[in-house]
Amino acid sequence: MSIEVKNITKFYKDQKALNNVSFSIKRGEIIGFLGPNGAGKSTLMKIITGYINSFEGEVLVNGFNIVSDKIKAQKSIGYLPEHNPLYLDMFVKEYLFFNAEIHQVSKNEVSKIIEKVGLFPEAHKKINQLSKGYKQRVGLAAALLHNPEVLILDEPTTGLDPNQLIEIRNLIKEVGKNKTVLFSTHIMQEVEAICDRVVLLNKGEIVADKKLNELKESSHQIVEVSFDFKIEKQFIEKIPFIIEVNNLHDTTWQLIFDTKKDMGATIFDFAQEHGLKIVQLNTRNRNLESLFRELTS
Ligand code: ADP
Repeated sequence: MSIEVKNITKFYKDQKALNNVSFSIKRGEIIGFLGPNGAGKSTLMKIITGYINSFEGEVLVNGFNIVSDKIKAQKSIGYLPEHNPLYLDMFVKEYLFFNAEIHQVSKNEVSKIIEKVGLFPEAHKKINQLSKGYKQRVGLAAALLHNPEVLILDEPTTGLDPNQLIEIRNLIKEVGKNKTVLFSTHIMQEVEAICDRVVLLNKGEIVADKKLNELKESSHQIVEVSFDFKIEKQFIEKIPFIIEVNNLHDTTWQLIFDTKKDMGATIFDFAQEHGLKIVQLNTRNRNLESLFRELTS
């Protein structure tokens, strides 16, 4: 096991932030650590990375106890904190050389990591001149410099624009091919896009720990579709496998189907038959969606 979290309970004064949390992560897994704000995600990440030392329970990283064998455990961790503490006045390379020195890593590694995280075009700049997406890349580069087996990322995509978001997601996926990755988010779609498994935390407790495939097993699909013209509900109700039709507004509909078959093509055929154009269409799985709603409501 790369990470073993055993019966962790954490109090801040008399407020319980984590209540008897346990799970383990195998080598090579990408785990999405999901939960609404205040669920306890950051607290648990700080415990796993050794930044919080007072708690009940036990954490092993790569077999090393994070309290009694902290240095060995921390050597196998790359950590990107939520408020990535970059030194804004430093140049990108200067900052990474500084980190290389801390980790006693050869300076040659810096140019390799710059290439790996796609920082090359911005590598000559000062950190405060970079966009939020590139700042995140600098943080990731610093976390990856010592080639850790375990990567812990606290809300790595918060505040990124849609393009940056896709780039950072792809980067995490790429890095995750040969590392164990635990990353936190409060966005369900994020988990769908990147993870093998999801651990859901709510009010300091684990409420679900499942493989993404299992969560997707539900055969109920939710499709949101906008047409270019208004259409009567009774026409839509004729589409096969449909069990619920909701008019979200004007020309936008939410359709729920009871089938595992991808209904996209059928809806396109339906639109063509009725002389309509599809302006927008997206499909979600009801199980994931309802889990997310349950957690955030
Ligand atoms: P998340 O990362 O899921 O948003 P946190 O771990 O930051 O959740 O917070 C969990 C709970 O612990 C929240 O109620 C938060 O207010 C509280 N908390 C977090 N850090 C501290 C702290 N340093 N002192 C006191 N309470 C804290």
